[in-house]
Amino acid sequence: MVRHTNLAAASDPRLATKKRSTWEIVRRVAVYLKPYKGLAVAMIACALFSLAGSFAFPWLTKYIIDDVLVARKSDLLLTAMLGLLAAFFSRDAFNSLRIRINNTFEQNVIYDMRREVYARLQRLPVGYFDQRASGDLMTRVIEDVNSVERVLIDGTEQGTIAILSIVGVLVILFSMNPLLAATALAPIPILAVGALWYTLTAHKRYRRQREASSAMNALLMDNLQGVRQIKAFGHETHEDSRFAHRAGELRAGTLEVMRIWAWYQPTMSFAGAVGTVLVMWFGGSQVIEGKMSVGSLVSFLFYLGLFYDPVGRLHSLNQILQSARASGERVFDIMDATEERAIHNVSTPELPPRVRGDVVYENVGFAYEGNKIVLHNVSLHAKSGQMIALVGPTGAGKSTIVNLLPAFYEASSGRIMLDGHDTAKIPLAELRRQISVVSQEAFLFNGTVRENILYGRLDASEAELIAAAQAANCHEFISHLPEGYDSKVGERGVKLSVGEKQRVSIARALLKDAPILILDEATASVDTATERLIQEALERLMRGRTSFVIAHRLSTIRRADQILVVKGGEIVERGTHDELLNSNGLYARLARIQNTTFIEESFEKLAPV
Ligand code: ADP
Repeated sequence: MVRHTNLAAASDPRLATKKRSTWEIVRRVAVYLKPYKGLAVAMIACALFSLAGSFAFPWLTKYIIDDVLVARKSDLLLTAMLGLLAAFFSRDAFNSLRIRINNTFEQNVIYDMRREVYARLQRLPVGYFDQRASGDLMTRVIEDVNSVERVLIDGTEQGTIAILSIVGVLVILFSMNPLLAATALAPIPILAVGALWYTLTAHKRYRRQREASSAMNALLMDNLQGVRQIKAFGHETHEDSRFAHRAGELRAGTLEVMRIWAWYQPTMSFAGAVGTVLVMWFGGSQVIEGKMSVGSLVSFLFYLGLFYDPVGRLHSLNQILQSARASGERVFDIMDATEERAIHNVSTPELPPRVRGDVVYENVGFAYEGNKIVLHNVSLHAKSGQMIALVGPTGAGKSTIVNLLPAFYEASSGRIMLDGHDTAKIPLAELRRQISVVSQEAFLFNGTVRENILYGRLDASEAELIAAAQAANCHEFISHLPEGYDSKVGERGVKLSVGEKQRVSIARALLKDAPILILDEATASVDTATERLIQEALERLMRGRTSFVIAHRLSTIRRADQILVVKGGEIVERGTHDELLNSNGLYARLARIQNTTFIEESFEKLAPV
């Protein structure tokens, strides 16, 4: 039996999408329409002209039947037909114009809203992304934005037109024949109750459908990224079945929405038709009794059609509204998430363009979530240009310590000082400009080698780019690629070897030339020649910078100016290699274990001690 995990968002109540009222969604979407008032007015004007064309038809029909056909005036026939043609032409020409304006309006609003959601996403802290599936966020930016915007554009246009036509038709109907008009309105209470019921119940169905769509996309995204693992473990069938389950949930959710609509919409239409039958009945008897002309009855029935058409449109609008509410909740969840502190903030003390790189941690404490404390009272002082090696078992908190420096996460207590300034008060953009991060698994963007290196500094010259590549020992291999610096690296750099990716990422950091370096040393073994090239490149990168190295290789650790031994979220020993050996503590015991390249192996060997 295949086990299926629950939808991520649904299983964690803290991450559940906040429920919001339709009114709130409408109010907030309205803000995006404001810049396009001109388009909105033009769109509604076109719709009104088009409507006038439609309204002329029943009036002309009455005239043709009673005054031309029944009166047998063939000389008026041509004029009447020309009038009819003009009415239809004006209806359709203005409708075409209306559709074009509507499309431009709609695409502009989607563009604005999508850009804003994306910009907001970029400003959310790393912790936000830790908790959420990329596929879910993608669904919100792509699908939900589309759905939420429709509410107001279609809403303002269709809603205005529908209400105007309903009022207009009612005035005409009552002026033509008040008794018949009152008969025509008999089904209205049923329609009103139906609309109310739909409004009250639709939200949860749409919400379920949107969540199912997100869950399917999240799984798809995850699987596309893990395609090698799936193949290596031979889990294709298992994944097929997991995907089928998610796709099935989406199918069920969508079918439920459609099922209710398929039941509701024809019911409402039937209720309207009952009105038409009643009119035909009473109107017919009036014609038989000679109280009404045939032309008037036909005209009345046409007008009645123009009455129930907008009523049906209002029902569809309600459907769009309910769908938009579910999507809007998901979009505005991103908009309302707490941002990182200001990226640019001019009011704080100016940092020089390049700091010296003197870093002090004062009693820093940290918890990722709730009260599960990961760091306790971490204090350290890295002097400008020093190399600090952090060592310790996996999960000790080494990455957490260094991640606090560029404020990927904010310290819960204590403070971190950079050249004497509290980093909590430095605008993020300025702070991060001073720091390069080279991680264990080099992440490359899907583009060319050149673009990836230039990511370090977008305006670097060709000469600077090549100098950085040379210093990172990657110029050689890049020159041998079929298209040199313009070769594509593939998604996440799949077309390059691990050692090549690492050197490209070192070139990128060299180009950035920040005074502080955070380096997560790779644990993967590469051949000795590549190892030497990487080590050389790293030495050049560390030169003249304050470096924090999450060190795994004993050879790196020995060269450090300070070694910090981290265990259980605390720094338990500190000093140089020689000092620590002399103090005869944990590190000394680790270092004495011979024949190891990576310090983790020593921890493992020590574990039973
Ligand atoms: P190290 O780098 O020494 O291997 P880490 O700093 O990565 O250790 O992790 C320290 C602790 O914090 C571990 O218990 C780990 O499970 C937890 N942790 C790390 N990253 C996160 C995260 N993004 N969210 C929640 N807990 C985390």
